Amino acid sequence: MDQVFAPWRIEWVEREGGNDDVDGCVFCAFADGDPSEDRDRRVVARSERAFVLLNNYPYNPGHVMVIPHAHTGDYRELDEETLLDHARLKQRTFDALDDGLGPDAYNAGLNLGGGAAGGSIDDHLHTHVVPRWEGDTNFMPVISDTQVIVEAVDDSYDRLREAFAAQDGATVDGETRAVVFSE
Ligand SMILES: [Zn+2]
Repeated sequence: MDQVFAPWRIEWVEREGGNDDVDGCVFCAFADGDPSEDRDRRVVARSERAFVLLNNYPYNPGHVMVIPHAHTGDYRELDEETLLDHARLKQRTFDALDDGLGPDAYNAGLNLGGGAAGGSIDDHLHTHVVPRWEGDTNFMPVISDTQVIVEAVDDSYDRLREAFAAQDGATVDGETRAVVFSE
């Protein structure tokens, strides 16, 4: 078996307490949630119609999901404003990851079609963005539920939050809230 260079395996990260307080769709709950809980929930940036959430079980450091507020699992149902806002937030996410973590490349994409695509939250679509480094593991399907653990998610959160905060149009309010973009 080949030795795998896995620099992100620094610390086991597990969300404390889970999301037991959430009824129904967790992404909707996060979208509408109290902004002062953003850090605890690892929501790192918000636009008017979407938000960026760090994956609690990342494949690599900085693995995030860019999630529209609209509760749908069908990409074709997103209206134009949401499509544009979501796309712009993805652009900002690549910039923030470049600045905060400096990966060599990215894998990014949607899992559509529910269980067959391997997604865990089928009803609320989300774009995964996974930073890649030369020499990290072979890319595995982004949405299998087995691959775990990475550098401390909190560290990634801080790096990304700082990078988002430095972007044009960013509003930063305290330490616990996500960086907000309104345009
Ligand atoms: Zn939802």
